[in-house]
Amino acid sequence: MSHFASLVRVPGDPILSLMEAYRQDRNAAKLDLGVGVYKDAQGLTPIPHAVKLAEQRLLDSELTKTYVGGHGDAAFGERLSQLVLGANSPLLTEQRAGATQTPGGTGALRLAGDFIRHCLPGRGIWLSAPTWPIHETLFAEAGLKVGHYPYVGADNRLDVEAMIAALAHLPKGDVVLLHACCHNPTGFDLSPRDFKRVLEVVKARELLPLIDFAYQGFGDGLEQDAWAVRLFAAELPELLITSSCSKNFGLYRERTGALIVCAGDADKLVDIRSQLAYLARNQWSTPPAHGAAVVAEILGDAELRKLWQDELESMRLRVASLRRGLVEALAPHGLSERFAHIAEQRGMFSYTGLTPVQVQRLREEFSVYMVGSGRANVAGLDATRLEQLAAAIARVCG
Ligand code: PMP
Repeated sequence: MSHFASLVRVPGDPILSLMEAYRQDRNAAKLDLGVGVYKDAQGLTPIPHAVKLAEQRLLDSELTKTYVGGHGDAAFGERLSQLVLGANSPLLTEQRAGATQTPGGTGALRLAGDFIRHCLPGRGIWLSAPTWPIHETLFAEAGLKVGHYPYVGADNRLDVEAMIAALAHLPKGDVVLLHACCHNPTGFDLSPRDFKRVLEVVKARELLPLIDFAYQGFGDGLEQDAWAVRLFAAELPELLITSSCSKNFGLYRERTGALIVCAGDADKLVDIRSQLAYLARNQWSTPPAHGAAVVAEILGDAELRKLWQDELESMRLRVASLRRGLVEALAPHGLSERFAHIAEQRGMFSYTGLTPVQVQRLREEFSVYMVGSGRANVAGLDATRLEQLAAAIARVCG
């Protein structure tokens, strides 16, 4: 008998099969706007110099490979918490917030999912429609009831009114997942005013926010992007934040991130952290050391930190200028107004508003690869290809 006979194949990640199709495309003018990583003008996902320098230092100074503790590298946790919550956050001085190091932002989300299921039984989690597809499967796999609130309307614009109206009807005590900045997949971010309105509903419904912070530094800048996180941390006694160092430190494969929990008092935080260490122990035991050591080294050294901030800023500015450049390149085709939102969105991703049929035509006729939903990774562009892309978009929209 076969133990595995009844097992069926699940479809692969659609973005990975898109990448494979791109690799096999022989058109020299092909353009990959699918995959969710930052790319430079040469199409490479670079290792920041600050990371390379930190790694060299670590290579010389590392003395042991023994396990890091359940919450990971303490210096990493402290410095990352300061980066997220602000260097002078009272939450940190009052020991009301702490980081548990996780394998990437994904690990942080999974640990948050386990924490909710285990410690807050019965609470559902509410995601924006649309959201990063892994949010959907990850929380379902963690055993949570997943629901959705509207975020983008049929006109491909942010619909804050619909979002607020839906949040106002969520079951009291449920968890609401918010993107701190650079919303994936749409690129539409809430304004400070919108965030304040969301905060009021969160208070009124006694919801627990889980803020996914995967792109700090890619929107309006390191400090600016943390604005909503810090507002919620200041105004609410309890909060969950997942932070990823994949994009802003270019550490994707080193799996570096953290779940930061804010609690009502220092004593309660100790209780919560005991639960997190227990849950993490049953998933990955202790987190991988290298990426966190690199981040701790960079954030703890004024020179490396300045170099990293400059490098991150240049990544951010490159994407912002590509956004503006694409809208300008669409102007001669009479399409700059229709696609003006591309310049207003933040982060790497853009919900272009192109339909699945138009996306398919772009791929088949022009070797332009983007996700079926019309999500484009703007970082996949380079300044010399904007006119080519604008002309292709004009053809499929004509
Ligand atoms: N949240 C969002 C919204 C993301 O886009 C990503 C990465 N694509 C993550 C979390 C997780 O990032 P990682 O696990 O690679 O750190």
